[in-house]
Amino acid sequence: MTNSRLSGLYNLSVAQRRAKVTESAPLPADLLSVYDTGGLSVDAADHMVENSVGMHALPVGIGLNFIVNGRDVLVPMVIEEPSVVAGASFMAKLARAAGGFFAKADEPLMIGQMQVLDAADLHSARLALLEHKASLLDEADAIDPILKKFGGGARDLQVRIIEDSPVGPFLVVHLVYDVRDAMGANAVNTACERLAPRVEAITGGRVHLRILSNLADRRLARVRCTVPVQELAFSDPDGRTYSGEQVRDGIIAAYAFAAADPYRAATHNKGIMNGVDAIVIATGNDWRAIEAGAHAYAARSGRYTSLSTWGTDADGNLVGTLEMPMAVGIIGGATKVHPAAQAALKLMGIQSAAELAEIIVSVGLAQNMAALRALATEGIQRGHMSLHARQVAIAAGATGDMIEGIARRMVEEKVVRIDRAEELMKEAEKQPKQ
Ligand code: NAD
Repeated sequence: MTNSRLSGLYNLSVAQRRAKVTESAPLPADLLSVYDTGGLSVDAADHMVENSVGMHALPVGIGLNFIVNGRDVLVPMVIEEPSVVAGASFMAKLARAAGGFFAKADEPLMIGQMQVLDAADLHSARLALLEHKASLLDEADAIDPILKKFGGGARDLQVRIIEDSPVGPFLVVHLVYDVRDAMGANAVNTACERLAPRVEAITGGRVHLRILSNLADRRLARVRCTVPVQELAFSDPDGRTYSGEQVRDGIIAAYAFAAADPYRAATHNKGIMNGVDAIVIATGNDWRAIEAGAHAYAARSGRYTSLSTWGTDADGNLVGTLEMPMAVGIIGGATKVHPAAQAALKLMGIQSAAELAEIIVSVGLAQNMAALRALATEGIQRGHMSLHARQVAIAAGATGDMIEGIARRMVEEKVVRIDRAEELMKEAEKQPKQ
């Protein structure tokens, strides 16, 4: 059993944190040593992309306090932005009081698209394809025997007519494919390419594009959480106090802004993606695919809006929900070949792609709540600035203990800027050594 409630982890050294994390779950003691190098060798990187010249590192923080579907989870988060790991962990702590996060992923159905040009009559071509649906699905089903062995394969064939486009009307075929524990892009692209000649023969048209859609709206993941209203009360460092009701109503009003205004919704959803992407990257998944799906889904009504909702339950507690496409895998792509991705899956005790999707949306919702709570009360900058100040201190050349000292001074002065950090560095260097 994992315990994700590790208080005081923040105050430990990196080595102590690693020990505490691996002791809190049934994990090998050296699991996190993969993060010494980020898990990849220069040689391995050379096999992954073209013209490789090495690797690019990012920090990994552990998201704490998460209970997802009744199970404690320690969450590896790869992100360069301060405050995200702390914000998500704090909100997960508040949500714990009501059982944490309740999440459910859809069946792993991906959509492959075929664009059929030059068919003489689009309506009869569409019906001809639907008449051959069973045999087309049989053919598509046989394309990936491994996927089939694991219970995946072709599930449905839909045909749409696009009436209005810059090249006039054409047909679009959607092949719906169950990709089990894979993200599925390669599997779906292969199936579309292999099916294309039969689609051409049936329609008399020409299959142009054959590619997966990242608007994976048949593969949504959903999560909800409740935060007891009394858990939301707090005092900020200036001594201002906020009641639970004030914080709750502030969060709901902040959500309403995102629900109604695309300018705000873009930033609101960016906050969700701070949590989402951090795990998607940690597990070697394709974060561009997730980003593309998220924003396309947020715009599905024709107006871009919030991916999450915030309201109250009958007892006045804060209730949050998030629903978004979540095409992630634990097989294939980089997930299997990247040792750090493998360690991340082990750390979370993940057995299926659905379970990974459920954890990811939980962290996205927690991160959304963290941003809304800060914005609706003391503002985002205080919490953010104390962490940001450390990066500014490092950028000014501070090392070791000097980083904390200079960061603290800048936060006290409320001037977090590189020029001030450089001045403070000079001052510190002038001080006689003790
Ligand atoms: P993949 O082809 O490497 O692995 C999936 C395959 O693994 C399956 O087809 C199946 O044959 C096999 N497999 C074994 N056990 C399985 C199990 N339990 N469940 C499912 N499959 C199992 O990977 P993929 O997931 O098809 O493709 C992911 C990669 O495609 C990512 O790296 C992504 O970046 C890339 N990609 C993305 C896009 C896009 O998003 N538009 C387009 C092209 C490529």
